[in-house]
Amino acid sequence: MSFKALGLSEAIVRAIEKKGYSNPSPIQEKAIPPILERKDVLASAQTGTGKTAGFTLPVLQILSQEQSLRKRPIRALVLTPTRELAAQILDNVKAYSEYLDLHSMVIFGGVNQTPQIRTLRKGVDILVATPGRLLDLHSQKALSLANIEILVLDEADRMLDMGFQRDINKILNLLPVKRQNLLFSATFSKQIKQLANGILHHPVSVEATPENTTVEKIDQKIYKVDKNRKNELIIKLISEGDWQQVLVFTRTKHGANRLSKKMSERGITAAAIHGNKSQGARTKALKGFKKGDIRVLVATDIAARGLDIPLLPHVVNFELPNISEDYVHRIGRTGRAGASGEAISLVCHEELSYVRGIEKLLGEKLQSEILEGFEPTNNTEESKPASRNHHHRKSSSKRNNRNYNRRSRR
Ligand code: AMP
Repeated sequence: MSFKALGLSEAIVRAIEKKGYSNPSPIQEKAIPPILERKDVLASAQTGTGKTAGFTLPVLQILSQEQSLRKRPIRALVLTPTRELAAQILDNVKAYSEYLDLHSMVIFGGVNQTPQIRTLRKGVDILVATPGRLLDLHSQKALSLANIEILVLDEADRMLDMGFQRDINKILNLLPVKRQNLLFSATFSKQIKQLANGILHHPVSVEATPENTTVEKIDQKIYKVDKNRKNELIIKLISEGDWQQVLVFTRTKHGANRLSKKMSERGITAAAIHGNKSQGARTKALKGFKKGDIRVLVATDIAARGLDIPLLPHVVNFELPNISEDYVHRIGRTGRAGASGEAISLVCHEELSYVRGIEKLLGEKLQSEILEGFEPTNNTEESKPASRNHHHRKSSSKRNNRNYNRRSRR
């Protein structure tokens, strides 16, 4: 999904490109279309999700579509709890409206109000404010809220925590009844729900959780297998599991090429990306992968580092990295945004020492299995210490496997 496809104008997309964003974040993808449709939106999003652009971009677009009145009455109001946040939001507004004919400004307390009043007099389309100073200046008739078309409550939970409920109520009474309302909050207590119910009309709810930086949500599993059977095993896992979007890590560029070729020969669309591939080839592969045209992306650690893929159901370590931290980076590409993720490692005898290093780093044992028909020939004592608690000994049927797992979890 591109910013343009979300319905944003050329002038806004140009400003976004200047900021260097290539794709919308999940909250942007979810929030921008309903806002552009002039719906009320209730968004669950924390700082770091890209929420500011999530409301700023569509608000700017809406304002820029209508001819500014000569006097530029305030048409959009963003309320936010702290002056730091207010200043940050204004920075965003300024950057994204660089190619638009819109005036914006910020007001907050604790500083001399005279310059703020002077700027207000020149006409402002979009005002970012903290509640206290806004009410102050309103009572002095330095501003009017009678023409507000869009109200944004940012970090609504923090505003309530900071005791702004009464101020918010007062401000709501100063606004025209007919307006669009957007409420952003990281948490949803009873009070926030009450506030939202009182303000929003048939809101569209959208949600974004920050990227999962821990490995807790990831289901990690090791399959022990002989080195020369790995190709066969991975193809079986992908085919029989009907996995549609798989990121596979190899240790070497040649390994990535070889595996991707093998998969293509077996009818699984795959592409390799690594340092020897041109930027064009990498971009093409990534695009195909994101679109679903390519089912498997085979990557080396370095090539994968800059990959902008938000959410993956399956990550496979075709070979384990010899640096334990790389394992954590690799599997961090699954289990994101609250979705369940699976990280599978194919481990041959020579890699068992890497398993121990990884387990030490994670502070936990990794669940280990042997799949029927893929029993390693060299399954010696060395494998035991790595997986004593969960080690799945060779068993004669899948049913036995399940029973064993159930027992071992008790
Ligand atoms: P926020 O959650 O709004 O505080 O944004 C967090 C950070 O993400 C800010 O530094 C933004 O500049 C940045 N950001 C916002 N949207 C995007 C995007 N689509 N791609 C990359 N970075 C972004």
